[in-house]
Amino acid sequence: MSAVLRQAEPADPLARLGRLIAVASGKGGVGKSTVSANLAAILARRGLRVGLVDADLYGPSIPGMLGIAADTPPAMSPGGKVIPAEAHGVKVISMAMLTGDDRPAVLRGPMVTKYLRMFVTQVDWSTLDVLLLDLPPGTGDTQLTLAQSFPLAGAVVVSTPQDVSLKIARRGIRMMEQVSVPILGIVENMSGFTCPSCGGVTHIFHQGGGRSVAEGLGVPFLGAIPLDPAIVDGGDSGVPLVVDSPTSLAARAFEVVADALTGDLAPSGGLRMPFDWTLATGAGRPAPASHGPAGRPLALDYDATGLTIGWPDGSRHLDPRELRLACRCAACRDELTGKALLDPAKVPLDVVPVRIWSVGNYALGIAFSDGHDSGICTFEALRALEGSEAEDV
Ligand code: ADP
Repeated sequence: MSAVLRQAEPADPLARLGRLIAVASGKGGVGKSTVSANLAAILARRGLRVGLVDADLYGPSIPGMLGIAADTPPAMSPGGKVIPAEAHGVKVISMAMLTGDDRPAVLRGPMVTKYLRMFVTQVDWSTLDVLLLDLPPGTGDTQLTLAQSFPLAGAVVVSTPQDVSLKIARRGIRMMEQVSVPILGIVENMSGFTCPSCGGVTHIFHQGGGRSVAEGLGVPFLGAIPLDPAIVDGGDSGVPLVVDSPTSLAARAFEVVADALTGDLAPSGGLRMPFDWTLATGAGRPAPASHGPAGRPLALDYDATGLTIGWPDGSRHLDPRELRLACRCAACRDELTGKALLDPAKVPLDVVPVRIWSVGNYALGIAFSDGHDSGICTFEALRALEGSEAEDV
């Protein structure tokens, strides 16, 4: 009997919030909130029901960027939930709306998590197709707790092209992977300046770093947003660039990111993510993806004898228990030393995967019959598993 490989389903009761997508960055000032605000506005204009949580409690800038006055506290619904503000078709909640200004809140870590939980669960979002979470910058405890608190569909990582930013972005990506949050891709912001008079492009902060980091890590590159003074004006005036000048070069760059994130959009059908493979039972053929890392398999099939992976250079078969023992999640392997924490004697001989789903276009999530379901197995790791025990089929 073959298993059906499918996308993990969002856990109730958050299911009506659609896809929860975190927008993250290794450090502040790289344009994370700008990307969140412009993406939210584009998705709303495309007919999706969009919510945006300004999770950057220490420096809430989303209300200003979307032209939302923060001087009146939000109303409460009869059910006791906070009614979000709405601008440019996007529903928004922000700390600035609760404190009445955009001064950074002074909060300890546990309070941050408490507020963020409240922003997701105690706000009257009604039904959404997508809820964007503009995370605080950094790769610390708050981000980790957040990533573990909600069933995130994935994270978009924003970076500028400088090496130092990219290094921090890389760390952020690793952190997200450790907590099994799929990386939807990297956005390179402030990527070259287009001269308004001559049209020539100057790469002020280097060029192409985001794409090469994405390729190196095997995650999608979603696009590059140019440096454009109109983006600052849009942020200051409360009308995002994609609304104010939708045909500008930078607005079109945001559209490219939105396309890469959503694939073909069907408002009634909600948000379709790229590289979500839905494999027919027994057939094991992923829908062809237009792009992806070179090491992506061409076909996958699972039956009682294990997982068969069709690589461009031939098919290989992996034993179910071998797959279980190879799990590299934080519970099974020491993150720092790489030493195995999983005792093979405790893994039943007849362990089998009970559910397999696609994680972005670079990994599989696998839940096993011994109850273990927190690991993700990258295609790179699957490839590395094909040691002496692997047999050609
Ligand atoms: P973060 O959320 O990462 O701290 P912001 O989105 O607040 O960063 O952006 C920081 C500043 O940089 C803002 O003034 C914003 O208008 C500006 N900015 C962001 N992206 C661009 C860009 N592509 N071109 C020009 N200015 C930008």
